[in-house]
Amino acid sequence: MFNKKSVDIAVLGAGPTGLTAALILAIRGRDFVLLDRAASTNQHSYALALHPDTLELLDALGVIQPILKRSLRLQRSTIFDQSNRQRAVINYSALPVKYPFLAVIGQNELEAILVEALAQKGHKPKWNHRVRCIQASEHHVNFAVDHLMEGMTGYAVAHLEQEIDKIYDYEANYLIAADGYTSMARKAVGIAFPEIESNLDYAVFEFKTNTRLLTEMRMMVDQEKTHIYWPLGNDRCRFSFQMPRNFAHIHSFNKDHSMVDHAAQDSSELSNAHLDYLLSKHAPWFIGSSNDVKWRVMVHFEKHLAESFGSGRIWLAGDAAHMAAPAGVLSMNMGMLEGADLAEKLSLDSNHEGRQFRLNAYNLDRTTEWRRLFDIDQKISTDDSNGEWLLKHRNNIIGNIPISGQSYSQVLAQLKLHQTVAA
Ligand SMILES: Cc1cc2nc3c(=O)[nH]c(=O)nc-3n(C[C@H](O)[C@H](O)[C@H](O)COP(=O)(O)OP(=O)(O)OC[C@H]3O[C@@H](n4cnc5c(N)ncnc54)[C@H](O)[C@@H]3O)c2cc1C
Repeated sequence: MFNKKSVDIAVLGAGPTGLTAALILAIRGRDFVLLDRAASTNQHSYALALHPDTLELLDALGVIQPILKRSLRLQRSTIFDQSNRQRAVINYSALPVKYPFLAVIGQNELEAILVEALAQKGHKPKWNHRVRCIQASEHHVNFAVDHLMEGMTGYAVAHLEQEIDKIYDYEANYLIAADGYTSMARKAVGIAFPEIESNLDYAVFEFKTNTRLLTEMRMMVDQEKTHIYWPLGNDRCRFSFQMPRNFAHIHSFNKDHSMVDHAAQDSSELSNAHLDYLLSKHAPWFIGSSNDVKWRVMVHFEKHLAESFGSGRIWLAGDAAHMAAPAGVLSMNMGMLEGADLAEKLSLDSNHEGRQFRLNAYNLDRTTEWRRLFDIDQKISTDDSNGEWLLKHRNNIIGNIPISGQSYSQVLAQLKLHQTVAA
């Protein structure tokens, strides 16, 4: 019962990265398919802020108006130490960019806007399409796709038994792998995904409060831990508190390779009492009510960077190629820029040599960019006392600052940090 399909470009994964790539391919009139094993877009706020460069990209894609309409604009982020002292300010309004702010918007709302924009171009993601058995040859990428009867829910991994309605046998010239951190495509092409830092486990609470909320993102650095505050608009806010290092072993997050610890949902760590304790310990400046919790979840983050962003006919973008700590919202923002870059490079023409040349440049650019963002070669220095404090807490801060793209060095300069870039 195989149904053969052939396409120029297959995009695997309809998260923010895959949706962005697909929207460019739709705008450029390319022959593509967007496949996702889930039944629909995700239903939660997850990565909840867009950087200035991502906003410019979304402007170019024609979706900036709905994004701005539904988001809260933040002009600044701050970094506090464990004595509740302000150590640094990032002033987005001083950046020479078209959108000098962070736009806070739920990932679910962002994905819905991208799906709507795709629909306006006459495309929609093929939901309930699970890719398996990817094989790349010199000339094509071949893979089987299960069309699932029952919708999967949740993030990245489904728990339901599902029936396969049909199996499609796809042949594509190129595969854009935006299939998240467990990426099957990355494994198929044999690209290693080394860990840079492990066990970043967070108790995340979103609640409605009765106080006037600070309109800034705040990182609270407490020795090796980083806690995060985001205002969300409509009297709601998110606090993410980093848990002790070995917490993952207690709850076995990785049992099903899910970022969400389902076992922890009823645990005392996510209770209102624990939230109040965490607020008083790590955010004594917060004086509002916290009993109206709308969402609570235990999430497991790690830092990883793929050894390469692809080869031959399979190319990675987004969480498939990297994972970062949550405060900077880097993985998603960079993922969208990468998805766009890949789609543009594949859209210029259909000549294989030309495409390979551009894709190799993609690999070099993206690897260099992430080595810079994670400061893997330790090129960041300072001659300022506050800068020294920031570098003393390098693991909390570097790779966790909410900025990417062209504005990154300007934000480092605001923090009195300098990064020597290899020639
Ligand atoms: C609870 C939670 C909170 C989070 N909070 C933050 C945060 O505060 N800050 C932050 O930076 N990040 C956060 N994240 C992570 C953020 O959501 C990811 O960085 C972002 O989703 C990455 O986007 P992506 O498009 O690259 O990958 P994904 O959104 O993971 O999309 C991958 C898609 O590929 C599909 N897929 C995978 N394999 C297959 C297959 N074989 N066949 C078909 N489809 C497949 C999946 O169904 C999925 O839709 C959070 C995540 C969770 C779960």
